[in-house]
Amino acid sequence: MASIFSKIVTGDIPSYKIAEDENYYAFLDINPLAKGHTLVIPKMETDYIFDIEDEQLGGLLVFAKKVGKAIESVISCKRIGVTVIGLEVPHAHIHLIPLNTLYDMDFKQPKLSFTNDELAQTAEKIREAFDTIIL
Ligand code: 5GP
Repeated sequence: MASIFSKIVTGDIPSYKIAEDENYYAFLDINPLAKGHTLVIPKMETDYIFDIEDEQLGGLLVFAKKVGKAIESVISCKRIGVTVIGLEVPHAHIHLIPLNTLYDMDFKQPKLSFTNDELAQTAEKIREAFDTIIL
């Protein structure tokens, strides 16, 4: 059965899309730890990130780098935290989280909630920035 994230890629489940290419997809986390908290996934479904073949894995990180640069150009933060957990959704994904303190990466913290308009605006700004980033 397709994962939730595969259904997001196909559009069967809606998402606030940030960026997409042939192999990768980035979208806002539905339960963010920070404004701009984004997930980056390979379109090819693999549960555990370290089971991804080397070239795909390298490409995922480079794609995440471009997304991270776009986020940090839009969201005020010291840097973008990068983490992989994967205990909830069995489709490999990288969390990109705007950080000002160590606690911003604490997944035990209450998640933030934004209106649909706020999420749409945030996604649009990051999406526009992504198109201007040259690595
Ligand atoms: P993890 O698997 O890394 O432990 O956590 C999965 C992450 O995916 C969580 O941060 C959760 O909020 C996010 N997530 C789970 N389901 C959805 C969904 O349907 N849409 C979006 N945008 N994010 C989701």
